[in-house]
Amino acid sequence: MNTPNQPLPPIFDSLTMEAELEIPLEGKDFKTASGKFVKLAKHSGFCHGVKKAVDKTVNASTHNQPEDQPTYVLGQLIHNQQEIERLETLGILTVQTLEQVPDGANCVIRTHGAAPALITQAEARGIHVTDATCPDVRLVQNKAIELAKEGYTVVIVGKENHPEVIGISAFASEVAGATIVAINHPSQIAEKLASVPKRRIGVVSQTTQMEDTFFDMVKHLTMVAKELKVYNTICPATFFRQHAAADLAKQVQLMIVIGGKNSSNTTHLAALCNELGTPAIHIETAKELEGVVALQQAQIIGVTAGASTPEWLVQQVLDFLKTQ
Ligand code: SF4
Repeated sequence: MNTPNQPLPPIFDSLTMEAELEIPLEGKDFKTASGKFVKLAKHSGFCHGVKKAVDKTVNASTHNQPEDQPTYVLGQLIHNQQEIERLETLGILTVQTLEQVPDGANCVIRTHGAAPALITQAEARGIHVTDATCPDVRLVQNKAIELAKEGYTVVIVGKENHPEVIGISAFASEVAGATIVAINHPSQIAEKLASVPKRRIGVVSQTTQMEDTFFDMVKHLTMVAKELKVYNTICPATFFRQHAAADLAKQVQLMIVIGGKNSSNTTHLAALCNELGTPAIHIETAKELEGVVALQQAQIIGVTAGASTPEWLVQQVLDFLKTQ
């Protein structure tokens, strides 16, 4: 498997990403007012999972709810505060716990998924559940269940407290006798696996994991387990965004990465560019670019956006850059 700083083999170039919706900005490279050149990443912005989740949620709030009642989303629908605020104006409210959702109300399960017990509890209270779990996340949940049923100790390569990882872990934990461990870095392997069976280990990844981290983790686990079964469940949207960002970073002097500071996939894009030696500025809005010296100095600038960054935010940044 290629890492993001290696070119993709031809098979990937020719992949038609039917499910993948790209922002209609690709190919719209431009010159700024002072003659700087701005290039846009080939793959960036809303992925198909986020796009569908936002559409489903807006649809639920428009058609399903009793009039004047808000639609609740359990946890942030996507990791983008500005889009969350836009949705609030449509009566779509974020809550942190199921207890905050009134009986009989509409409640959306976000792209990251949720523990099955939570959905059962909601339905028992007459709450109308709209499940916007991304199909790529569902795939990881199913693979983790499969590994647990086969008797592997399941290692999820991801952040233990990330909602997607919590959901995957909850699904696999329903298998009798399952052992599930989330590990985010090879340095944690010894501690995290100290008291669990290590002979047979099954591996899945948080969908937005950095490729290099995942491969590094698998390499280290081969030194621990006698039998290792690996599913690379990094989602295609993440895969393509990482490769496109790496490709662009090599052509420019400065990268601007747009997206939530709490968004894993956006943070990873910025980290990837920095690792390749191209400074990256991670911003949520165009305002953060005002007066930035690195931007004033750069003549060739690359722009990318995380999978949870809406097109309207990207466009605001591009409009700002045009004036520079
Ligand atoms: S980043 Fe991947 S897993 Fe997450 S919502 Fe988008 S397509 Fe789904």
